[in-house]
Amino acid sequence: MVFEYAPAPESRSIVDIKPSYGLFIGGEFVDGGGTSFKTVNPATEEVLAEVAEADSDDVDRAVKAARKAYDKVWSKLSGAERAKYLYRIARIIQERSRELAVLESIDNGKPIKESRDVDVPLVAAHFFYYAGWADKLAYAGFGTTPLGVAGQVIPWNFPLLMLAWKIAPALACGNTVVLKPAETTPLTALLFAEICQQADLPPGVVNIVTGAGATGQALVEHEGIDKVAFTGSTDVGKAIARAVAGTEKRVTLELGGKAANIVFDDAPIDQAVEGIVNGIFFNQGHVCCAGSRLLVQENVADEVLARLKRRMATLRVGDPLDKNTDVGAINSAAQLARIRELSEIGAAEGAEAWSAPCDLPTQGYWFAPTVFTGVTQAHRIAREEIFGPVLSVLTFRTPAEAVEKANNTPYGLSAGVWTEKGSRILKIADKLRAGVVWANTFNKFDPTSPFGGYKESGYGREGGRHGLEAYLR
Ligand code: NAD
Ligand code: MG
Repeated sequence: MVFEYAPAPESRSIVDIKPSYGLFIGGEFVDGGGTSFKTVNPATEEVLAEVAEADSDDVDRAVKAARKAYDKVWSKLSGAERAKYLYRIARIIQERSRELAVLESIDNGKPIKESRDVDVPLVAAHFFYYAGWADKLAYAGFGTTPLGVAGQVIPWNFPLLMLAWKIAPALACGNTVVLKPAETTPLTALLFAEICQQADLPPGVVNIVTGAGATGQALVEHEGIDKVAFTGSTDVGKAIARAVAGTEKRVTLELGGKAANIVFDDAPIDQAVEGIVNGIFFNQGHVCCAGSRLLVQENVADEVLARLKRRMATLRVGDPLDKNTDVGAINSAAQLARIRELSEIGAAEGAEAWSAPCDLPTQGYWFAPTVFTGVTQAHRIAREEIFGPVLSVLTFRTPAEAVEKANNTPYGLSAGVWTEKGSRILKIADKLRAGVVWANTFNKFDPTSPFGGYKESGYGREGGRHGLEAYLR
């Protein structure tokens, strides 16, 4: 039986997108000295706004504003005073949550269901959580002295959430920040700048410079910053590590992943299928900790795959603003091209592709949820991050083989284990070289829980008490 849904689009009248945006420096929106770029709605290819591209002079102005705010105001406030601002920001985020969610979905392409129920609530929770730490740093075990000015560069997959992960702990610890959002998703960071104004945050404590890689590079290489925090691709992360080597700058890097989602034959299959779907199709698979490698025990592989395909056929792909939508638009034409290229390589190397039957819109950037079977470790789709709605399936026979295959990757961000046996969960989790291991669930986030990687997935932890360490001396 096929269930038909009437469209249920969220109204976009709540957001007020301006034709052009400047930079947020020293508490005010100012013109950039450089050029500008366009951000589009990836579901329609509609140009949303013209955004200033910060050049190195603009970055310099922003860093100086952050330094001044650090020296004159922010480093002089008590933790309890800083906390008041963070609580205020958290409450305004809650009050303006619908606006933030709609704007995030328009600029990024993610389903409103996710921006509304996952991203924005987690953003508010993150500010509330670190507000709570601001006056308790002495009990956290990492000292109470802030680093100074932090330069922060974030990707496009969770624009607001990555902003919160960067800004909330930095401010709680007494640092000031210059943040560069990704070039395809700058609009919610600029709305956050308005929220800083609304919260009366002292000017210069948060500065937002928009632009692409060159702007990010100017920021991380600026001599006036004490700390670099980066989330994005492993290649850029390595370039940043090289650029700051030999300087006094502290660095945290949160890079790519190729997580194994391991399903044992005693797992509750229907729940595991939900976890597999959530693991790889949540946020169109644009998730660094996505469960992109399914390792399924050989004796249940056929059954798991049959049920997985049946479930995938029910995923609704389309308008991100429709409340029924499960899978939205691919974030950019460039990312779509990368996903297509790697998928074609997977097919050429002999893996078998199956895509969920769905009508994709003709305008915008789309990719149907896809699963590759017959994948071996030698295939590029088993080793490289695809960062899209594409799952590679491998099989295993014994727990030892599952662990070996799971760890056979240059990455180590996350993993999932599905089994009925608690003792097996503990035994396997202990052997997995991954920063986060989920058991009988996947892609669960909470501000109290540290997140970060091993190996080429980067270093440093964000979230939880551990997340404070990155911003204290
Ligand atoms: P990217 O690393 O190029 O971009 C991430 C951020 O870094 C953006 O804000 C970008 O403007 C900035 N940047 C780019 N070059 C820089 C430089 N030299 N110095 C400083 N900042 C710089 O990522 P991308 O091009 O958006 O995506 C490429 C691949 O990266 C994806 O296919 C995916 O595999 C991976 N990725 C991972 C994550 C993650 O969360 N781990 C997020 C996005 C992308
Ligand atoms: Mg956009």
